[in-house]
Amino acid sequence: MMVQMFTVGRFLTNCYVVACEEKKEAVIIDPGFDNKSEAEKIFGFLDANALTLKFIVNTHGHPDHTCGNRMVKKVFAVPILIHEHDAYMLGESSKRIASFFGLESFSPPADVLLHDGDTVKFGNVALKVLHTPGHSRGSTSLLGEKVIFTGDTLFAGSIGRTDFPESSEHDMMISLRSKLATLPDYFIVYPGHGPTTTMGEEKRSNPFLQ
Ligand SMILES: [Zn+2]
Ligand SMILES: [Zn+2]
Repeated sequence: MMVQMFTVGRFLTNCYVVACEEKKEAVIIDPGFDNKSEAEKIFGFLDANALTLKFIVNTHGHPDHTCGNRMVKKVFAVPILIHEHDAYMLGESSKRIASFFGLESFSPPADVLLHDGDTVKFGNVALKVLHTPGHSRGSTSLLGEKVIFTGDTLFAGSIGRTDFPESSEHDMMISLRSKLATLPDYFIVYPGHGPTTTMGEEKRSNPFLQ
């Protein structure tokens, strides 16, 4: 499995291209870019590695993770996947939510609704959907072999905001302590913002996992 991180947009969102190196199939997680040059850099990466894009996956519905959905879909015509509880943030309401974030963007509506335990398969890679609400109701983490993409649930040394109307501090603590913290230390954590880390490092030093 190949993972390439691109930090994009004014909120410095981590957008990931994850690919099966054998079958050359890929997904894009959280296309948070709203300008052409960032999009072209990522599209160029897909092209240079002869990757076929299969899906757009949003870890949650906030516009800093979804504002590039339209650009990707326009070029690759692939489905947008998001947890059922955050799907309402895409489509028509995405304009209003984006303006709340100071962004001008519109995401097409979701094509596939994800549920806890679903798998997103491309080539020989399967990412399991782990529902980790708290930052938003439909926040998910995507679990691969020895890696996890945590969106805005878990960051290196910190966690995502829980002060949005759709947030829940209570759910966040359950997601962090009962779900993420049960993963083995060797898991590599790819967060929605900031540097890559490991579960072991977070269990040792992240105050929210204590
Ligand atoms: Zn967010
Ligand atoms: Zn974010």
